[in-house]
Amino acid sequence: MPQQVVLIPGDGIGPEITAAVVRVLEAAEARIEWVRHAAGAEALAPEGTTLPDALMEAIDEHKTARKGPITTPVGTGFASVNVALRKSFDLYANLRPTRSLPSLPTHWGDIDLVVVRENTEDLYSGLEHEVVPGVVESLKIITERACLRIAEFAFVHARQNKRHKVTAVHKANIMKLSDGLFLDCARRMAENYSDIAFEDMIVDNTAMQLVMRPQRFDVLLLENLYGDIMSDLCAGLVGGLGLSPGANLGADHAIFEAVHGSAPDIAGKGQANPTALLRAAVMMLRHLGQGDVADRVRAAVEQVIAQPALRTRDLGGEASTSQFAESVVAALA
Ligand code: ATP
Repeated sequence: MPQQVVLIPGDGIGPEITAAVVRVLEAAEARIEWVRHAAGAEALAPEGTTLPDALMEAIDEHKTARKGPITTPVGTGFASVNVALRKSFDLYANLRPTRSLPSLPTHWGDIDLVVVRENTEDLYSGLEHEVVPGVVESLKIITERACLRIAEFAFVHARQNKRHKVTAVHKANIMKLSDGLFLDCARRMAENYSDIAFEDMIVDNTAMQLVMRPQRFDVLLLENLYGDIMSDLCAGLVGGLGLSPGANLGADHAIFEAVHGSAPDIAGKGQANPTALLRAAVMMLRHLGQGDVADRVRAAVEQVIAQPALRTRDLGGEASTSQFAESVVAALA
C-alpha cells in the first residue's frame, strides 16, 4: 500500500530537481503516491494566496511533505512561505546533516556533523515595524518552551544516532536575556543526558572553529538565525549547497527539503544538482519506514557522484539535472 506524500515542486530550480527526485524514487520503487500542490509565487496567481487551503489541508492529512525551494522576495513582497509552513505545522526542529562523501574529499578529511536549528521563533518571528522614519525595530522572540524542546530534540537525536556531543551555539555574552535563556535551557537539558557530552560556544568563534577544525563538532544546537547561517557554512565544507538536505520535524508532521534556496541564477538551465533534494528524499524514506529504498537511493547517488564525468557543474562535471537523475536510476541496485 503506497504512502501518500504531499509534493510541492517549488519555483526557481524547484521543478527541475523535483522531477529528478520523482524519477529516481519511481525507479527505486518507493512505495509513495505523490499528492501535488503549488505554493509561493506558483500559487499566488491562480489561487490568490501563497499557501492555498487545499495545500494546508493535504499536509495536515498526509503528515509528510517533500518541498522544493520556494523564493521569498527580498525586502518587499509576500512573507516567507517556508517560515509560514514551519510555524503552521509547528515543525520546531530543523535537522540538517552535514556529511562528506568519500569521493569528494574536503580540505579537512571526513566530516560528519549535524545542525539542529530551532525553527519557529527568534528573529524569524517577522515582528518588525518602523518606530519613526529611518528607525526600524525587529523583535527577537525566545521562549523557554521552544528552547527546552529543541534542546531535548538535540539530545534525543544524539542518543538515538550514537553521537557523543552537543554544542550549544549562542551570543549570550551580548544578548544576555534572549541567548542567555537559550543557553540556560540547553544546560538544564544537558543534565538529563549524562551519556552525551555538552559544551557551549559563542557563535562567531563557532564559525571560525567550523572552518578550521570541523571534526571537533558532532551535534550543533542553534537558534533559528544562527542555524540558518551556520548550516550554509556547513554545506560549503562538504561541497556546497547542491549536496545538503534538511528535514523540518514536528510532533505530528514533517517536511523534507534541500538546505538551498531557489537558485534563480541557474533556474531553467538544467544545471542544478538534485543531490540535496535526493538526500532529503532519503531522509524522508527512512522517516516513512522505507529504509530499504532509502539505502538503495543513497548508494546509487554516491556511486554516481564518485564518477567525475557524471557530476553536475557545481561539482566540476557537465551533467545536466536530468542526466544526473538518469545516471542515478542506472546505478540503482
Ligand atoms: P535562500 O535564502 O532562499 O536560502 P540563497 O540566497 O541562500 O537562498 P540559493 O538559492 O540557495 O541562495 O543559492 C546560492 C548559490 O548556490 C547560487 O549561486 C546557486 O546557484 C547555488 N546553488 C543553490 N542550490 C544549488 C543546486 N542544487 N545546484 C547547484 N547550485 C546551487
